[in-house]
Amino acid sequence: MLNYNGIPRWKNVKSTEFSNHIWQEANSVRNAHQLQEVLLDSTPPNMLKEINKGLELAPMVSRATPYLISLIDWDNWINDPIRRQFIPIESEMEPDHPMSVLDPMGEQKDSPTPGLVHRYPDKALFLVTHVCPVYCRYCTRGYAIGTDTDTVSKQSLGPTRARIESVIRYLEKNSDIEDVVISGGDAFRLQPEVLTKVCSELLNIPHIRRIRIATKGLAVLPMKITSDHGWTNAIIDLADQARRLLKQFSIQTHFNHPKEITGYTTEAMKILFSAGVQVRNQSVLLRRVNDSDEVMLTLIKMLSDINIQPYYVYVGDMTRGAEDLRTSLDVAISIEKSIRGRTAGYNIPTFVVDLPEGGGKRDVHSYESYDRERGIATFKSPVISNSREYRYYDPISYLSKQGKSYWNFTAK
Ligand code: SF4
Repeated sequence: MLNYNGIPRWKNVKSTEFSNHIWQEANSVRNAHQLQEVLLDSTPPNMLKEINKGLELAPMVSRATPYLISLIDWDNWINDPIRRQFIPIESEMEPDHPMSVLDPMGEQKDSPTPGLVHRYPDKALFLVTHVCPVYCRYCTRGYAIGTDTDTVSKQSLGPTRARIESVIRYLEKNSDIEDVVISGGDAFRLQPEVLTKVCSELLNIPHIRRIRIATKGLAVLPMKITSDHGWTNAIIDLADQARRLLKQFSIQTHFNHPKEITGYTTEAMKILFSAGVQVRNQSVLLRRVNDSDEVMLTLIKMLSDINIQPYYVYVGDMTRGAEDLRTSLDVAISIEKSIRGRTAGYNIPTFVVDLPEGGGKRDVHSYESYDRERGIATFKSPVISNSREYRYYDPISYLSKQGKSYWNFTAK
């Protein structure tokens, strides 16, 4: 199990406390001051100033569980792949790409009722809540997730009865919809009664065949599965209920780095796998986190070993405040080529770009054109539009001198 006793504030914390989701939630760290209280004399020099300024610029609030804080190598905190995902620091942030926006997928324009995204004919995304156990710097839903920041006023997506009812009525009426993703926000944040009510109602709609529960929880708070019996039993009961109806019910989780998989994860997965709950993983390709063949292959193999199926790797979305975490499309293409064939095909994830402005997910190899000098790739997405061309833009820092000067010119 994880050696969290190396963190000064928690050196006397018992393993029964650390393994409890309530203790983890109560001791989560939200700002530089709280982090300093946890690290005490081990606080790296300059850390307070770096984080305070980083948070002023970020569109996402910060929150990290003690579990995550314990996974960070504080002697090398600047380069640590866990720290980079959750704690912004000023000196590494890059100016946003001129084409970056707060809602890069254009979800709000594809939302027929608040908190429901209906873009593909047979699929819908139900944003039940706007809160998460942690907040990722690169979140694609910076327009709504978490609380307001210095730079963003968020759209409210709280799990109110009226909003939930309105989404369920919409799903009932649209008989083309077979597949519903319950997301947000994070389903770890839903009370078991709410989770059960929402999913049971959806399972009882005849045309809905598949439900996926989106949660990053397994990667950031795995002790919820082992210690929050109400939540875990709700998931297992829903999976049983779906199986009796010959429908699918699964969890979609979000691991990005091998360090996120520990003994706590293994214990959580033992419970879910032995109860027949299918778990798939969606990673985001992130610079200086998992943008190498070795790290990605190790992650995939470790996930496979604990019966989490690697499903997608997303190229980073063109959201604001996380440009230093994006890679070029070429990096994704190169890693995919390198790892394909190095383990069973069903455990090799599909590398996709979720196209800006609602073009949907496309295989990274399926571009129509790719101007590497200016970093502009074009894609078609016939399921969304037969005529439209969608563009993905590489980070400007990856471009040649000529490419950089092109963007300096057009950005004015
Ligand atoms: S857990 Fe998901 S929804 Fe929440 S901040 Fe991270 S990416 Fe966004």
